[in-house]
Amino acid sequence: MSEKNLKIVLASRPTGWVEESNFRLVEEAVPAPADGEVLVRVKWLSLDPYMRGRMNEGKSYAARVELGETMVGGTVGEIASSRHPGFAVGDKVLGTQGWQRFAISSGQGLVKLPDPRLPETAWLGAAGMPGITAWMGLTQIGAPRAGETVVVSSASGAVGSVAGQLARIAGCRAVGIAGGAAKCDYVVKELGFDACVDYKAGGLDAALKSALPAGADIYFDNVGGEILDAVIRRTNPGARIALCGLIAGYNGGEIPIRNVFNLLVNRIRLQGFIVSDRMDLWPGAMKELAGHIAAGRLRYRETIAEGLEAAPRAFIGMLKGENLGKQLVRVA
Ligand code: NDP
Repeated sequence: MSEKNLKIVLASRPTGWVEESNFRLVEEAVPAPADGEVLVRVKWLSLDPYMRGRMNEGKSYAARVELGETMVGGTVGEIASSRHPGFAVGDKVLGTQGWQRFAISSGQGLVKLPDPRLPETAWLGAAGMPGITAWMGLTQIGAPRAGETVVVSSASGAVGSVAGQLARIAGCRAVGIAGGAAKCDYVVKELGFDACVDYKAGGLDAALKSALPAGADIYFDNVGGEILDAVIRRTNPGARIALCGLIAGYNGGEIPIRNVFNLLVNRIRLQGFIVSDRMDLWPGAMKELAGHIAAGRLRYRETIAEGLEAAPRAFIGMLKGENLGKQLVRVA
């Protein structure tokens, strides 16, 4: 193959905000599969906030990326050559090939795209890991009952957009929190949330109070920090908080919880979760999410960066909120 492989490796560990200089582009020959292996040509790369934690030295819930190693990431690709009985050239596959154009795989963790009704990219978003995260936090921790009020932060994002729409499907009132008027507009008008609070507009407490006349029964939190604190103040007795992410703290920001008193007096259950802990629930969740998407009940948008070289810039932009919906890179 005359084509070259391009990959992006971790060049240095960020302190605070990620910079493009934390990454390095490496060019090398396209590897050839051995017996029992396939060569995957990556078409789409998913950029996700968890990658920020993998860049750190310290221990997280998943192994860190070592210096010089290819950045990890979910991908959709195509089998470019196969010496594996389970895969043929041209098969479309979901996997974790990372930030690179080509990757060798033993087939482990490689899944043929399950449902041809959906666009390929949906398997990295609403029907994939982010969608399953929303499904898991909402159904397993939130346990919504019709008529309840569900608050979702980062509501226009990959996870939040699905969490709010699933809450609506369950018969709940969905209230989003997002950064900026344009995102809030999208959350209400296109995703069908009942209301959305722009946390960047100032006056978060008052805005939440008016958007939540009956308080909050479930909070699906993607953010932590001041927003978590403000929502805790509006929670009803017996409320459930699914702690999904703390993006306000990923680049070194403070994530204090001051309203602990409310947790006590309202007997609130706050539970963190990691989507990969319950792989047994993934197939059912994916099927349900794919069904909602195919039926037009679950909508999503994507922000697409062009070319692998654009991944570092797009990743930093996503951490700063420049994405609307799922952040992807079109690799090929
Ligand atoms: P998003 O598509 O929501 O993109 C990130 C968004 O975070 C930005 O667009 C921005 O939106 C928002 N944001 C960034 N900084 C802040 C801040 N300081 N305060 C409030 N909002 C902020 O990403 P995902 O949907 O992929 O992920 C959402 C969350 O879910 C993340 O915290 C992620 O780590 C977590 N997650 C957890 C999993 C688990 O297993 N527990 C699995 C997958 C994701 P805005 O413009 O609105 O500020």
